[in-house]
Amino acid sequence: MNFDKLYKILEGQPKYRVQQVKEAIFKKLASNWSEVTNLSKELKEKLNQECPLEIKGQIFSSQASESTKALITLSDGLKIETVLLGHKDGRFTVCVSTQVGCPLDCKFCATGKMGLIRNLEYGEMINQVLFFSRYLKNNEQRVSNVVFMGMGEPFLNYDNVMKAIKYLNEDLEIGARRMSISTSGVLHGIKKFSNEKMQVNLAISLHAPNDKLRSELMPINKRFPLDKLFAEVDEYIKKTGRRVMFEYLMIRGVNDQPHHAQELAKLMKKYLYMVNLISYNPTGVFKASKTADIRKFKEILEREGVAVTQRYSFGRDIEAACGQLTTENKK
Ligand code: SAH
Ligand code: SF4
Repeated sequence: MNFDKLYKILEGQPKYRVQQVKEAIFKKLASNWSEVTNLSKELKEKLNQECPLEIKGQIFSSQASESTKALITLSDGLKIETVLLGHKDGRFTVCVSTQVGCPLDCKFCATGKMGLIRNLEYGEMINQVLFFSRYLKNNEQRVSNVVFMGMGEPFLNYDNVMKAIKYLNEDLEIGARRMSISTSGVLHGIKKFSNEKMQVNLAISLHAPNDKLRSELMPINKRFPLDKLFAEVDEYIKKTGRRVMFEYLMIRGVNDQPHHAQELAKLMKKYLYMVNLISYNPTGVFKASKTADIRKFKEILEREGVAVTQRYSFGRDIEAACGQLTTENKK
């Protein structure tokens, strides 16, 4: 949905018209303006022409887990991937992409291999959630959580991400506390975000306990090294009083040994810091850690008093898991 264009069309119309249109989009979850009963035929035709509600998406469902991937075609023909994760407790999370590709080139990530093609507009992010909201509507279910953890680096497309969050919160009524942004550590983004007075959660992709290893895995670490990153995160915590989740991928023989856990524990023993250990999904470069190594790693952190959780990945069989999102060969 191109909201700027939509508002332009509605210029000069009474205020309640904007409300009707928003209701059609976010409450009725209409996929064609002709479904909307309280607008004139003339306006509906114009909207269908210039601001169509249709979202072109191809669906892939996972056999092994409750995850569904959509390959969405944008208005310029580029494609992005969006993932819906079903949880045992009945919640549904949409994992939203923020860029087509990503410029940051993390060595373990399939999206990084694409480079940056372009930023997504906020309407294109909202559409990813609307796509699955419509999909779930048939079973009288709804999207309850949104994570900005799909393709791309959210803080390199800051304003569009904030605008999307505002619509999702106010119009689709997804609670701010049920949304999360994950960043690879773009410092100016973290700084700006700490002033937003929003309840949206912040996650940091850490993945290594020292600068040497982190710079090898994540080139952005050369520009924003760990001491600067932690200083910015501490400032965020001071301002917001909110906890921060550090994501740590478990890569076999690379960052998953006991000495890495000891080193990590030293960094993480701070108020409101939390660690989330993530299973590595194969992208052709590294291997996932052995189960026994993950267990040992987690035990060391726990023994040191670090708050640690473990995330299992969904959707590997449809390449819809974290770090596997790419549309490079699918154009
Ligand atoms: N660019 C942002 C958000 C998108 S990546 C970021 O990097 O934080 C979302 C998460 O998936 C990040 O924690 C990222 O590190 C992780 N990820 C990347 N490649 C992965 C892989 N191969 N297996 C599992 N997780 C991966
Ligand atoms: Fe970009 Fe995140 Fe992938 Fe790194 S992990 S290349 S920042 S999408």
